[in-house]
Amino acid sequence: MILILKETATSKQIEELLRKLKKHQLSANLITADNKNIIVVTGETMSLSSEEMLSSDLIEQVQNIAEPYQLANRKFQPKDTVVSVGEHTIGSNELCVIAGPCSVEDERQILTVAKKLKKSGATMLRGGAYKPRTSPYVFQGLEEEGLRLLKLAKKETGLPIVTELTSLRYLEHFCDVDLIQVGARNMQNFEMLKELGHCKTPILLKRGFSNTLEEWLMSAEHIMAGGNPNVILCERGIRTYETATRNTLDISAVPFIKQHSHLPVIVDPSHASGIPSLVEPLSSAAVAAGADGFMIEVHPCPEQARSDGGQSILPADFVALMKKISPIASLCGKSVHISEDF
Ligand code: PEP
Ligand code: MN
Repeated sequence: MILILKETATSKQIEELLRKLKKHQLSANLITADNKNIIVVTGETMSLSSEEMLSSDLIEQVQNIAEPYQLANRKFQPKDTVVSVGEHTIGSNELCVIAGPCSVEDERQILTVAKKLKKSGATMLRGGAYKPRTSPYVFQGLEEEGLRLLKLAKKETGLPIVTELTSLRYLEHFCDVDLIQVGARNMQNFEMLKELGHCKTPILLKRGFSNTLEEWLMSAEHIMAGGNPNVILCERGIRTYETATRNTLDISAVPFIKQHSHLPVIVDPSHASGIPSLVEPLSSAAVAAGADGFMIEVHPCPEQARSDGGQSILPADFVALMKKISPIASLCGKSVHISEDF
C-alpha cells in the first residue's frame, strides 16, 4: 500500500505514523518523490482499510499496489539504488567489473590473478570457496581455506571480495566478505534470502536459470523485506532449447530490470555463454544495454582450472576486453578504473 502524505504533515507526525504502522507488524518505508512524502507499506496490508487511512489528517491519497514487488519497484523509488562495496559502488557512474577464477584453488593462483586484474581495471575480485557442483565427485571448493585466501588477496590488492554462499550453515564464515553471491541454484531458497535480509552485507543475486524476471525480482524483494536494501541483480543466462552456448544470455533482462526496478543490474557473460571468445562481445553488449557492470571468470591457466576452465579467459584477454569496453562504457556514462601503467 502507498500512502501519499499531505504537504502539511510534520516530521513528528510522520514519525508517529511510521511507528503506528510498525506496531501492526507492517514494514513502512518513507521515501520522497516529486517533493512529496510517500510511505510504502509492505506486509499483510489487508488489515488496513483505505477509508481508515484517509480519515487521518496526514494522508492525501491511498494507493493499493497491484505489483507483487514493492521495495524493489522503481514506481515507488524512482531514484537508482547505489550500493557501496568497499571503496567502490555499483549502480553509480562507475562501471562495476568483477573478475576472478570460478574457484579459489591455491595461494599462487588467486594472488597472481588478483594482482593482474587490479592493474587492468577490475573493481572487485571473485572466487568460489564453496562450490555448487552438478557432480558430487568433482572439486567442491576449498571452503574456509578458500575464504582465507580471498582475504589474503584482498589484503595484497585492496580489491573487495565476492564469493558464493551455498548454504546458511557457512554464513558465520562470511563476516569479511564484501559482497555475498547467491547463485542461480539458490535464487529461490527463501530461507536463505530471508536470513540475508537481516545482514548488512550487500547481496549479489543471480537469476535462476529457469526463472522469470518477476520471480527474480520477488527474490530480491524477500531480501529487502528483511531489511537489507543492498541487492544487486546478476543476469547469468537462462535455459532455452539452444545448445550451442551453455545458457542463453537474456540481454533484454537488463533494460527490463532498469525500467521496472531501481536496483543495480550486472551481467555474467561467462556462465551465460560458456565460451571464452563470447565473453568480450557479451560484456560489451551488457554495457551498451545499460548494465551497471559485469562479472567474468578469469584464470591464469584455464586448462588447469578445477572448475569452469573451459569458459575462463586469460588475464591477457581481460586486458584486451577492458581496452575494448572502455570507450563503450564512457559512451554509456560509466567510468572504468585502469592504472597508469596499464
Ligand atoms: C559461479 O558464479 O561460479 C556460479 C556457480 O554461478 P551460477 O550460480 O550463475 O551458476
Ligand atoms: Mn563458474
